[in-house]
Amino acid sequence: MAGTLYIVTTPIGNRGDLTPRAIETLRAVSLIVAEDTRHSAPLLVWAGVSTPVRSYHAHNEAEQAPRLVERLLEGHDIALISDAGTPLISDPGSRLVDAAIFAGITVVPIPGASAILAALVGSGLDATAFSFLGFLPRAVAERAAAATAALALPHTVILYEAPPRVAELLATLAAVGGPGRRCVVARELTKLHEEFRRGTVAELAAYYEATAPRGEVVVLIAGAPVVAPDHEAATKRAATLRAEGTSVRDTVRHLQEEFGVARNEAYRLAQGS
Ligand code: SAM
Repeated sequence: MAGTLYIVTTPIGNRGDLTPRAIETLRAVSLIVAEDTRHSAPLLVWAGVSTPVRSYHAHNEAEQAPRLVERLLEGHDIALISDAGTPLISDPGSRLVDAAIFAGITVVPIPGASAILAALVGSGLDATAFSFLGFLPRAVAERAAAATAALALPHTVILYEAPPRVAELLATLAAVGGPGRRCVVARELTKLHEEFRRGTVAELAAYYEATAPRGEVVVLIAGAPVVAPDHEAATKRAATLRAEGTSVRDTVRHLQEEFGVARNEAYRLAQGS
């Protein structure tokens, strides 16, 4: 019988976030593949895990993935971990998971801490819907285009960035049109110096220009404000549709789709009241 590939989340700073299920899994598998074996060693020793560890990172994943799949097919269970948090989230692992699924291997996630969700729930920004865009591209033109696209999203946007580039990221976001947008920088999550700094994009850009952040950060931006529907245009369109004999139901649908007016308002206009 084939083995199972476990995707095991490790802490993003606070060892107390390593779950009992993660420890149990890391002890039970026959091999752990880690992004940086030296980085993970102290955590594994601390958790009493003595399973053999092999490296699996961006530079050897093309060569390692098929070998690991072979091993899984031979019946060995394997756990994948990254340096911090959830593997595959701005970290290696996609190629292995993809190859394992293609080979019919069962993939089991062992969830735990993630910088995305910790930052989101502590930010105070709307958490009903959000986009995680990882690291924006570094090249100037691509970065500006990605920042523009991010600012157009109607819900909270979550970005990762390396500390030396945070001020520049915020300056780019301000320059492409979002200086007044609500923004939060979440720093050193789950660690001793955890901090949430809140303000507008321009305020935080100025702050981090003067004070480069220490430690790891997540940048969150509030979604684009919803543009108010054009009631005058919607009223005119409703009159035209009524004159053309369009049913109330279809008129409501048109008004909602074309102008984004609320349903009860669309009904009122459709009935000419
Ligand atoms: N796989 C990780 C995860 O699940 O969050 C992310 C790995 S990615 C290479 C590293 C980035 O994650 C950092 O540059 C930072 O943006 C974010 N990050 C990770 N740990 C963090 C922490 N404790 N506080 C703030 N940001 C963190």
